[in-house]
Amino acid sequence: MFNTLIANSMPYMPKALVGFFAKRYVAGATPEDAFQTTLALNGEGAVGTIDLLGEFNDKIEKARQTVEMYKLVLDNIKSKNLNTNISIKPTAFGILLNEETCTANMREVIKYAYERNIFVRIDMENHPYTDYTIDLYITLNKEMPGSCGTVFQACLKRTQDDIKHVAASLDKANIRLCKGIYREPDDIAYNNRKKVQENYLECLDLLFEKKAYVGIATHDDVLINGAMELIKKHKLEKNEYEFQMLLGVRSELRKRLLAEGHKLRIYTPFGEDWLPYSIRRLQENPAIVGSAIKGFLTGGR
Ligand SMILES: Cc1cc2nc3c(=O)[nH]c(=O)nc-3n(C[C@H](O)[C@H](O)[C@H](O)COP(=O)(O)OP(=O)(O)OC[C@H]3O[C@@H](n4cnc5c(N)ncnc54)[C@H](O)[C@@H]3O)c2cc1C
Repeated sequence: MFNTLIANSMPYMPKALVGFFAKRYVAGATPEDAFQTTLALNGEGAVGTIDLLGEFNDKIEKARQTVEMYKLVLDNIKSKNLNTNISIKPTAFGILLNEETCTANMREVIKYAYERNIFVRIDMENHPYTDYTIDLYITLNKEMPGSCGTVFQACLKRTQDDIKHVAASLDKANIRLCKGIYREPDDIAYNNRKKVQENYLECLDLLFEKKAYVGIATHDDVLINGAMELIKKHKLEKNEYEFQMLLGVRSELRKRLLAEGHKLRIYTPFGEDWLPYSIRRLQENPAIVGSAIKGFLTGGR
């Protein structure tokens, strides 16, 4: 109760104070921070996906800056030989302005990455952008096979149909499967934890059946255990799927999955606009705030 109250007050707190709780979730403000974090993750045996923070942008200049920053990141991935791909979001590339601008910007970055043999994940945002994101993913894969993948959210009632649609449209789909972070209306989404878990495992089973390459993105033990069962059921080799986790979340699980020899990708966000992302992460797990305050008050004893 106390933790939730504090987490919900985060948007009204000074940035420096939120930063105290939130620094675990982001690599830092600069691209160099993201490269250093990726190097450290690679050293542990994990791979990365670098994300430039700054979503829900309605300025054309800012969308262009996003394109240029991702090109710089891609150049550095190549020159520093980092084992990472990138994740991009339509609302950072201009979808709030119009679809044409967004598509042109996203195509430019995906083409730049494709020419450098670097994979791009198109993150899935809230439901007004679901159709757009899936259509763009299919179109760009037809133009540049294997260049990009997208994300499906188990909280959405439509997701099993979307899996069938994508599988029928492409030779091999590449999908990150997550629960979904956005609060969506009851008529289109399951807003019940158990139902989302059930749908997650049904979607994963279907994706494996359709021979998709899946990024199993979760920190939930029920889903990790369920995924292990499905990996056995479909007799998958370790190079036919990967696990994915967020930076700063459940490092003990990260170590366990790596020790068991699974491929593990860590979502590595960076950028000046770290505040909204960090607040979302803290609200997702208010207990973090409580334990940080306790550690602060007791001097970590
Ligand atoms: C790599 C990756 C990419 C993602 N991309 C997208 C996307 O494109 N679109 C989208 O809508 N969502 C995305 N998400 C978010 C996702 O939808 C969930 O909101 C998030 O992963 C929490 O769900 P969970 O399955 O981990 O289960 P939960 O039940 O939320 O978490 C399980 C356990 O993990 C720990 N935990 C979870 N979150 C936190 C946290 N913030 N701080 C500390 N501990 C925590 C807790 O111990 C918790 O009990 C992504 C998640 C990951 C891992």
